Amino acid sequence: MRFLAIGECMAELAPTAAQGDYHLGFAGDTFNTAWYLARIRPDIAVAYFTAVGTDTISQKMREAFSQSGIDDRHVQALPDRTVGLYLISLDNGERSFSYWRGQSAARQLAQDPQALSQAMGDADLVYFSGITLAILDAASRETLLKALRNARAVGKTIAFDPNLRPSLWSEPSLMIDTIMQGAAVSDIVLPSFEDEARWYQDADPTATADRYVSAGATTVVVKNGPDPVHYIQDGVTGTVPVPLLSSIVDTTAAGDSFNAAIMAGLEGGTPLPDCILNACRMAGQVVQGKGALVPLDPGFLDQ
Ligand code: AMP
Repeated sequence: MRFLAIGECMAELAPTAAQGDYHLGFAGDTFNTAWYLARIRPDIAVAYFTAVGTDTISQKMREAFSQSGIDDRHVQALPDRTVGLYLISLDNGERSFSYWRGQSAARQLAQDPQALSQAMGDADLVYFSGITLAILDAASRETLLKALRNARAVGKTIAFDPNLRPSLWSEPSLMIDTIMQGAAVSDIVLPSFEDEARWYQDADPTATADRYVSAGATTVVVKNGPDPVHYIQDGVTGTVPVPLLSSIVDTTAAGDSFNAAIMAGLEGGTPLPDCILNACRMAGQVVQGKGALVPLDPGFLDQ
């Protein structure tokens, strides 16, 4: 199986134990999912589609892709741009984020329809998110949605996490409409209920799943923090309880890792409720570690 994630990876500066020192890393929702998928399924060819610059930090990001087992052949290098950056601040254990991504190269990732169709042609499963859509201008969004529609029409599977981030959109109504367009080109939709309830007034996770089925998805898995995961697959619905955890360290990338486990399981023909249980166990490990990219327990990887 060949997997392609489309989106923005950013440089991350995270505080270290030494006052005033920061560690440079790389993270971003679709990249995190690719990273976890490459960890748990080394047999899957994992590729990332984005745009970076040609400067040293962009080069380091590409090296990070390769070192993580992620193919960078579809990464475009734009000479006059660089990658986005965010810095994590800690105040009494509370994390807050400052972003510099307004001019990032990734905002131009979907300007070349040829590059998109070629990359999707090399994949069986294509994954993108609401953040991927949010960072693009209107014309690029159309180009990306059209390429995804075409890929689906020739038998590729399209997976989408709405990942609602109102701060990335000029106005909420644009986010609300565009996310539904993303869902309309997708087979698998992987939303988080808390965000969905707020922006779509869904009364419960069933309403979220039904809305995405109406948009055209065949499989919807609704994450809901520690509460049961609701799913619908080809008209069959159910819920899977989330195993209880004694401590939560940092919920960054919980949903991203969860999505990787769902796609890994579905690809292997695992029944969806079992995929969900595995995804909860994986996300359960991720929330008990710091940062987006948490090393997984070898016992988990061996399964
Ligand atoms: P979310 O996107 O926040 O709904 O979370 C994605 C997944 O991470 C959930 O479906 C759970 O499997 C896991 N998760 C998140 N928060 C918790 C928590 N407090 N306790 C246990 N698992 C959690």
